[in-house]
This record gives sequence, structure tokens and C-alpha cells, in this order.
Amino acid sequence: MTQQLKFKGTALFDGQKILSGDKVLILSEDRTIMDIVSADLAGEGVQEVDGILSPGFVNTHCHLELSHMKGIIPEGTGLPAFLTQVMEKRGQQDDAVIKTAEEAMWESGISAVGDICNGTATLAPKQHSPIYYHSFVETMGFVPVAAQSRLDYSLSVLEQFRRLNGDMHSCSVVPHAPYSVSKALFSLLSVIPDNTPISIHNQETAAENQLYADKTGAFLDFYQHFGMDASAFVPTGGTSLPAWLPYFKHLPVILVHNTFSTKEDVVFTKQHAPDAYWCLCPQANLYIEKRLPDISLLRSEGCAITLGTDSLASNHQLSIWEEIQAIRGHYPEIPLEEILQWATLNGAKALGISARYGSFEKGKQPGVIVITDKGSRRIY
Ligand SMILES: [Zn+2]
Repeated sequence: MTQQLKFKGTALFDGQKILSGDKVLILSEDRTIMDIVSADLAGEGVQEVDGILSPGFVNTHCHLELSHMKGIIPEGTGLPAFLTQVMEKRGQQDDAVIKTAEEAMWESGISAVGDICNGTATLAPKQHSPIYYHSFVETMGFVPVAAQSRLDYSLSVLEQFRRLNGDMHSCSVVPHAPYSVSKALFSLLSVIPDNTPISIHNQETAAENQLYADKTGAFLDFYQHFGMDASAFVPTGGTSLPAWLPYFKHLPVILVHNTFSTKEDVVFTKQHAPDAYWCLCPQANLYIEKRLPDISLLRSEGCAITLGTDSLASNHQLSIWEEIQAIRGHYPEIPLEEILQWATLNGAKALGISARYGSFEKGKQPGVIVITDKGSRRIY
């Protein structure tokens, strides 16, 4: 018989509910969940842990490749100015810095990550990582005539990430944002077969909706600053989301940020992309725009919410627990077990890996973490 591991915390979160403290989690040596039983039936060898036991977190939005930009961009500039600085100060990526950032994610309890990639900087660090990665190879290009060549470049990056595919990796090619992708490029992306999930930066700034409403606002200065020709863009008179979402009708889509999404956007999404996930990166929103999405609206509309850390260019650490704390600080009425489900099971569903991650169901291998007042840490 194989060796079993048994853990008992002050409480146990199973992916959906917080169970009382008399429950013991039983795993096999290869990290597979075997059972959750009452303490009086658990037998010998139970390790007692001070804190809430939880499945490993799933971080559905990260940019590991920007890890070297920690502390470089000032806070509160607003998104267009932030992006200008990212593009100008991007500089050289650093393998050692990427490795340090991802080790910190693992130690703080993150088991799986949806990671945005513009190039191949994270290819080597991902190769032997204990973290599961879905690499979202990001494509952008606002000039319609360049759509095919921009996509071809991104597909060549995707091809390199495909070599990692297997038990611990998958990948897809995705649009960057509605203000950086032309209709022609959206259209090309929408017909790529077996290319899921889709992820997109959505309504991260008021300037995005303003662009679509009447083609005014800070993005026009942004295009001019970088000599980008926006003459082909025609405003729709509405918010940005209805203009592009139909390209990915009925596909699993992860909408990232949603800081300026309206009730009409949410209703439209429920109609056109019922499998959408709403990824919140609260600390990055506070860093860049000093504002949070309307989380009450998303909850009242029954949206499936997930959590992301975004990058070290717009965050002080890559910790899902710190994102949870930021939400609790601003929305103390939301039950902890609900936010924990966003951070675990919902994230696993969004990345299409819930057969293995996100909850303590028998046969899964989600990792085991413990949460205390001081933070979260991996124990297995
Ligand atoms: Zn991002």
C-alpha cells in the first residue's frame, strides 16, 4: 500500500465550501486527493496545520515576461500613459528574474497560471516548472493591412510554446485588447481552429470605451505618440465590448480587468458568450487606474469570476492571496468562501483544467496550501 499524507487545518476549503475544522484531507504520495474524512475516522499520522487548507490557487492573468519591470513605472498614471512607459522602458528580459517571480508564485500557493506571452522569454523557465501554464500568445496590430503579418508573427511564437504542450502546458493565440487589435485581426483570430480559451484585456480604462463611442480620448494621443495610423478605425457609438465579442461567439473567453464594464456589457456577454469568465486583477487596477471594477454588478448578474495578478510592472507581488485581501478590503460583505472559489475552482474551469486543479475532489492533483492571517503558503 502506498504511503498516505493526512492534513488537518483549522478549517478546510474544498474548492466551493469552507468545511469545519474536524475534517482531514487524505492524499496519496503522488499528490492525488484520496478523501476528506472526519478526524475520528482519519487514523494515525495526521499533520496538524494552523490555518485554512485550500486547493492551490489558479492565477488566470499574469505576464511573467514583464517581471524585470518591477517598481519601474509610477502608480496612478492611467492606462494609456502606463502602456506608453511599458513600451518605452520594456528593455531586456531576465531569466533569473522570471525564475524568482515564478518560484514566489509557487511558494505562495499558485498551482496554475494563465500567462500572457509576446515573445519566447518565458519558454525556458516554463520547461521544468512545477506550475501548470497556459501560455496566451498575445497578438496586436491596429492597422488592418498589417493584420496577417502580425498574426503570422504570433503564430510563429505559438509554435515554439506548442513544443511544451503536454501534462503541464497548453497554449492559444489571443487578442491583446480592443484598442490594439483591428477588426481584420479579430476576424483572422476568430477562425483559428481549436484555439481556446480566448483571453483579452477588457475595458481596463475609460479611454477604451471613449474610443469606441466617438473616437476621442487618450488613445488617439497614444497612437500619435507611436506613429500608429488609426485612420481605419470607425467608432461604433457604444462601449467597446459589443464590437468584438461576437467574433468569439460561444467560445470560452476570459475577460480581464473589466474596470469600466457596464450592466449592458455584462448582459450582452451572457447572451453571446455564456462561457465567459470575468478575471479581476484588483491590485493592478489600483496601481494603474486607482479604481476597481464593479464587483457587486458582476456578482448580482451571476458572472463567473476568476482572479489574476497581472504583472510585476503593475503589482508589488504575484500573490493571489494579496488580490483576495484587496477585494476583502473594499468589499467586506463578500464571503471568503466565495472569493476562494474564484481563486481556485473558477480559475481552473476558465483554463480548462478543472479535471486536475481547483478543488479537493477525489483523483485531482490541485496542490495543498494553507491560508493564515499572515498570507498563503504551499504545504504540498
Ligand atoms: Zn495584463
